[in-house]
Amino acid sequence: MLIIGNGTVITNDPEHPIIEDGGIMIRDGIIQELGPTHELKQRYPQASFIEAKNKVVMPGMLNSHMHFYSSFALGMDLKTSPPKHFTQILEKLWWRLDKVLQEEDIYYSALVAIIDGIKNGTTTILDHHAGPGAIPGSLDQIARACTELGIRASLAYEVSDRDGEKVAEQGIMENVRFFDRCQKEQNPLLASSFGLHASFTLSDKTLDRCLEAIGTREIGFHIHTAEGKADREASLEKHGVPVVKRLDNWGVWNDLSLAIHGVHIDEEEMEILRERSTPVIHNPESNMGNAVGRAPVLKMLGKGLLVGMGTDGYTTDMFEGIKVANLLHKHGEADPSVAWGEVQEMAFTNNIEIMERQFDQKIGVIAPGNRGDVIVLDYTPRTPITAENFYMHILMGISGRMVETVLVDGRVILENRELVGIDETKIFRKARERAERVWKEI
Ligand SMILES: [Zn+2]
Repeated sequence: MLIIGNGTVITNDPEHPIIEDGGIMIRDGIIQELGPTHELKQRYPQASFIEAKNKVVMPGMLNSHMHFYSSFALGMDLKTSPPKHFTQILEKLWWRLDKVLQEEDIYYSALVAIIDGIKNGTTTILDHHAGPGAIPGSLDQIARACTELGIRASLAYEVSDRDGEKVAEQGIMENVRFFDRCQKEQNPLLASSFGLHASFTLSDKTLDRCLEAIGTREIGFHIHTAEGKADREASLEKHGVPVVKRLDNWGVWNDLSLAIHGVHIDEEEMEILRERSTPVIHNPESNMGNAVGRAPVLKMLGKGLLVGMGTDGYTTDMFEGIKVANLLHKHGEADPSVAWGEVQEMAFTNNIEIMERQFDQKIGVIAPGNRGDVIVLDYTPRTPITAENFYMHILMGISGRMVETVLVDGRVILENRELVGIDETKIFRKARERAERVWKEI
């Protein structure tokens, strides 16, 4: 049992958004009570205590699309001319990097990405893994990293045809095997979905085979959806319909599925996703970096689609992501009045709904009965934090590196910026060694 006390609590609960000098009592992984700190301390004298005086306490950040394996791309020499468009970015960078990953590379690239995420206050991540050279058991390596560090994660392997039938089949079986493992274990911190790379790297035959392998399992799909223009063009050319419509024939869109990006989808496709209750995941920095275009997420939100947010491996910091999304859409629309409520809705309302579907648990709001996923930040506001303006403080005042303490399921995994029970120096040294090996191979 523990109490976090004396802080300014941003609950993200519309009923009581702010509690001054608030105390949170967590037991058995669940937030049990909120109230004045001194009262909670009196009632539960045996509870351990986390002091949050002059600090902000809020729910852990949620990242709805990530690639842990992208860690080793930082500073990597492509040894070729720079990619000129998105397909070349895949060919010259990602498909060369992921091909040479071995088991230990997968494990260490996940560890360092997750550590960075934790240090930026992220408590739940939906990951999308690729590594055609070492598929069987790869999701177990990532799960091992997640479990050792103590975060909540849902994992998937990106099935694609790009390395032939045998490799595609390995990807299919890895998703199914890991889904069955999660069903069996019922670990509240671990979930899975069925990963697909993207429509343009998947034949009809492979999609048939995915459905055959899935059988009666109730599973969501995690897939890049019309990220670049080439995905839409390939679908129109080969199949006569755009991406969302094509994949609808295989029942890819359900309420557990994740349509990542949706940069190049039309209104009819938006309607399909809305009808199927499939969330779209927006990754602003990634879209800008890859120059794929600005996803029409404001339009999607206006149409009632559930749009969440992730980082797509571009960063691990969701605080950074909301800052960029806020600017991207104001700039893109040439209208400073847009993207205030919309970005808040994506990151702090819709991401919760998306995560609750994945894990079947209540997270993202500090309220009794919810899982104890809580962060404490060293943030001294220069203006008052109120029920009306707390999001402005999150957007304009707070940054990820202010995070001091992180709890997931009531367990302290970061304390005063130090990982609890983890030798971080050793992990990063080992990661650099593995990265050097990977760089030599590409
Ligand atoms: Zn991605």
